[in-house]
Amino acid sequence: MRLSKLKAGSIVSLLLAALIGAAPLNDFAVSKETPKAATNKNKIILNARRRIKVSDGSNEFRVVNNRLQWNPSETAVIICDMWDQHWCKGATRRVAELAPRMNQFVAEARKNGVLIVHAPSATVSHYKDHSARKRAQSAPKAANLPPEIGKWCRWIDANEKTVYPIDQSDGGCDCEPRCKGGKPWRKQIDTIHISDTDAISDSGEEIWNLFERHGIDNVIILGVHTNMCVLGRPFGLRNMVRYGKNVVLVRDLTDTMYNHRMRPYVSHFTGTSLIVEHIEKFICPTITSTMFTGQPLFRFKNDERPLVVFVIAENEYDADKTLPEFARELENNYGFSCEFALGIPKTSIAKERNNIAGLGVLQSADLAVVYVRRRALPAEQMECLRDYIKSGKPLIGLRTASHAFAPRGELQPGFVDWPKFDKDVLGGNYHGHHGNKAEDGPRTYVWVKPEMESHPILTGVPSGEFYVRSWLYKTLPLAKTTTVLMIGRVDDRKPHEPVAWTNTHIGGGRVFYTSLGHPDDFKLPAFRQMLLNAIFWALDKPMPKVKVKVEATVSH
Ligand SMILES: [Zn+2]
Repeated sequence: MRLSKLKAGSIVSLLLAALIGAAPLNDFAVSKETPKAATNKNKIILNARRRIKVSDGSNEFRVVNNRLQWNPSETAVIICDMWDQHWCKGATRRVAELAPRMNQFVAEARKNGVLIVHAPSATVSHYKDHSARKRAQSAPKAANLPPEIGKWCRWIDANEKTVYPIDQSDGGCDCEPRCKGGKPWRKQIDTIHISDTDAISDSGEEIWNLFERHGIDNVIILGVHTNMCVLGRPFGLRNMVRYGKNVVLVRDLTDTMYNHRMRPYVSHFTGTSLIVEHIEKFICPTITSTMFTGQPLFRFKNDERPLVVFVIAENEYDADKTLPEFARELENNYGFSCEFALGIPKTSIAKERNNIAGLGVLQSADLAVVYVRRRALPAEQMECLRDYIKSGKPLIGLRTASHAFAPRGELQPGFVDWPKFDKDVLGGNYHGHHGNKAEDGPRTYVWVKPEMESHPILTGVPSGEFYVRSWLYKTLPLAKTTTVLMIGRVDDRKPHEPVAWTNTHIGGGRVFYTSLGHPDDFKLPAFRQMLLNAIFWALDKPMPKVKVKVEATVSH
């Protein structure tokens, strides 16, 4: 049985899948703990993205996915400040754009027994006779009411403040001309339905009491504006986290008050991405609306950033650190939007390892960058990748991508491999490496293939030979459809091996592959320039300006 991917996130179809025995391995799935009583044992399974410090005291982060399993009856959604009107016209317009998808999200959550709390701050008197308002007011005072739950929480700690990524001190209106201030909000936007079984409140105390009465431990927050109310309100992310709730932000159902004329001078939407990243580092994990709606990621109409999806699942080369860092440069300096589909890292058992959470985001991708090593995937996840290739969109493969889906050992039932991914997509023929792993051992030297110097991907890449840390892969012979750009060698060993090339994949899309990609390679300006150029080339865009002229300085 195969579920339609658009419906893959739908709770209903997955509940059905669970009942008839299909593996619930999607972005959002309802699983059964025991064959009996599937309905009330169902759990919400969320892929929650977080950024964790590589080590204490480090400023480097890894991006990770945790699989959360929440009981719906212990879970609430808080809709923050989705007002009918805002003093900023742009903000009002974006709320109206968000609201229909948010309503879908909320309807699915409600249907599954999640408590819905509407929190249109300072307008709840509009609902004074609504049963949802009365529900919030009638919850008895909780014995464990936190002392500061009635107040805003501006910062988690001093450290959060010092690394805050945007300047919002002007109020964040992105419009031209600037909007005047004011308080034009009267109620929540009507697009979001309020059911009699929901609650309405803007009070930290009321919401806490309500949660105690209903046994709510898990909180999903969506709404606006991420950098202000969503983070700081009495019922916002910071307070819920510091008072011990399990909290996630829905990162595509939110917006930021950020003006692109202010530091760090990025687009309005990149401002939101920066805040989301900040939240993932310092406050709580984030999820996407796909997990509830089964729809592709929500994107604003004016958000024209090409979407690059990094598919990361390997344990050898820290790709969960190097690629998010590279993605930050793409977002801040080059106007891209980036998402990650992440495999389970090192520690997991064999079966869990063969799972790349969030591959459904490929539906929305303009470019996929694959850094995966020896994984099988649940059939439905592999279909996401195969469909992406069929769509003819471009792909970039890094290093272990040549054996990305060639797992060792026997396949588990329900899992599939794609050993010919190397041939079908990359045009390669990986069959081992030269074993020059030791740092003091024979080195890998690479150089631009002489007649290829003017290839756009090699713009700004030195033409002379230079040293890379990656031990040399054996990849010959390549498919006839490839064009070799860069060659490598170890000592005088023959043959020399291609280390970077372009190809056209079986779906007709552009491909760039390089067998380089060791973490030390990411420190080389020449490697970074080549990868950056390849991203522009894959998307058929003119090459970016070369920032630093790089010389081939290696002497040997
Ligand atoms: Zn405005």
